[in-house]
Amino acid sequence: MYSENKVVIIGSGLGALSTALRLHVAGYRDISIIEKYHQAGGRLNEWKKDGYTFDMGPSFFSMSYEFKELFESCGIENPIEIQKLDPLYTVNFEGENRIFSISSDFEKLKAEFEDLEPNFLEKLEKYLKSAGEIFHDTEKIVVKSNFDSKLDYILALATVPLKHTPALVRTMWTDLEKQFSSYEVKVILSLVSFFLGAAPFNTPAVYKLLSYTELKHDGYWNVKGGMYDIVRKLVAELEKRGVKFYFNTEIVAVTNNNNQKAIFIDNTGKEWPADIYVVNSDAAAFRGKVLGRKAYTEEKLDKMEWTLAPFTVYLGIKGKIPNLSHHSYFLGKNFLEYSNYIFSSSETPRKPYYYVNVSSKSNPNCAPEGCENLFILCPVPDLRIKNNWDDAEELSNIIIDDLGKRVNFDIASNIEVKRIMTPVDWQNNFNLYKGSGLGLAHGLNQVGGFRPRNKDEEFSNVYYVGASTIPGTGLPMVIISSKLVVERINNDVRL
Ligand SMILES: Cc1cc2nc3c(=O)[nH]c(=O)nc-3n(C[C@H](O)[C@H](O)[C@H](O)COP(=O)(O)OP(=O)(O)OC[C@H]3O[C@@H](n4cnc5c(N)ncnc54)[C@H](O)[C@@H]3O)c2cc1C
Repeated sequence: MYSENKVVIIGSGLGALSTALRLHVAGYRDISIIEKYHQAGGRLNEWKKDGYTFDMGPSFFSMSYEFKELFESCGIENPIEIQKLDPLYTVNFEGENRIFSISSDFEKLKAEFEDLEPNFLEKLEKYLKSAGEIFHDTEKIVVKSNFDSKLDYILALATVPLKHTPALVRTMWTDLEKQFSSYEVKVILSLVSFFLGAAPFNTPAVYKLLSYTELKHDGYWNVKGGMYDIVRKLVAELEKRGVKFYFNTEIVAVTNNNNQKAIFIDNTGKEWPADIYVVNSDAAAFRGKVLGRKAYTEEKLDKMEWTLAPFTVYLGIKGKIPNLSHHSYFLGKNFLEYSNYIFSSSETPRKPYYYVNVSSKSNPNCAPEGCENLFILCPVPDLRIKNNWDDAEELSNIIIDDLGKRVNFDIASNIEVKRIMTPVDWQNNFNLYKGSGLGLAHGLNQVGGFRPRNKDEEFSNVYYVGASTIPGTGLPMVIISSKLVVERINNDVRL
């Protein structure tokens, strides 16, 4: 059965592309995607220069089965070739030659840590057992459900076994301190909090479920041909199905057709009438900026909790860097102090903590022969806290010098291509609120029934998909978000 309804999707991030595919399969034939940037993908984007190709944001993902589910439920063969990361990543602490290699092979993991943490494997198994129980006890009830009201959500939460209550009230770091003594083990196991865009000192312990997804469940994956291949393949599939894309077009205003239905207007004043809109722009910021909702004024948005902002550097490097692996974290020895100070200060970090991805290690086409492409991500405060980025070049030089020393390679003299993206660029390119990289944070007061809903409060024809609505941020989560919003639309609109 086909629908006469016209669908307009605002934004072309992964949430939007997967929603478009699901809606087409559901019978919608008139679908348009309007995007502010010059190409599709949102944060999952790509930048190319002088023979180098960079994934601009995500470099790997968990829960690969959500991608499979997307394609299987749409009746198409999965066009994306994924590869499992092994090791998952490496970690180096400042001032140490040692490089920890983190693998989901527990015998290898034991060898890495047994001199630092007595009975490491027993402790890890215990930690992951409770993490796995939280994951399986909440996945369907909390993550994969639509809620009609806060009460609906609270009633669903009440069915989660009570034994998980301590993990709701303590932080991830406190939980780790209870079970491990080694600084290195605690820091490494807490790195998953950064996938939620937060430090472990203010992340609820329930999110240790991410350690379970990392080490036990499905591991981490990336894409052969680069992460942007996900977008390329989805766009090709959608274009084949007649979905229309409009780039360099931003929705900036709304008008009402007096029937509780919205009509959105772009930056040139053009109206984009539709029977159904799906907003992939940030679900909180859009309600404030475009819909002018009182619950989402700038003052109120500023009081909400937002994830850390990305400071990213893209480097094309002449030469191969043997001591640098595919995914690496370079950290210091003062995590609590660093996190308390840097994430709430406008100063340039002198000894930054950062992550480096070198996709040319497994995708040689991403760099000219004999060269490497480096993506550096340093989490920094958002623009509410640090709004002046005149020190961008200085921070990038600090990182480049530090990295060069740690991997024993003269990176600075071999740079062929360089680009820096500060939180200001992330904000301006993709409308990320105050440059916050992963959208609204995931404290217990901002998830499930407390997160901006995927159906608008006033307009009956407006829905939301993506990182700041349910269930949350990250590539698998926004794919789930697309499933939830399409379920919602299918419930409301009978074909
Ligand atoms: C630096 C960085 C690294 C990351 N690394 C990882 C990782 O390794 N693994 C992982 O799983 N996740 C990672 N993430 C998170 C992941 O990228 C996001 O959760 C996910 O891509 C969000 O997708 P989305 O569909 O919500 O929207 P977005 O990707 O934000 O797309 C929304 C789109 O809407 C457009 N838009 C906004 N407002 C308007 C408007 N008014 N009119 C028209 N268009 C508009 C934007 O330009 C954008 O293209 C990372 C994010 C960042 C920033």
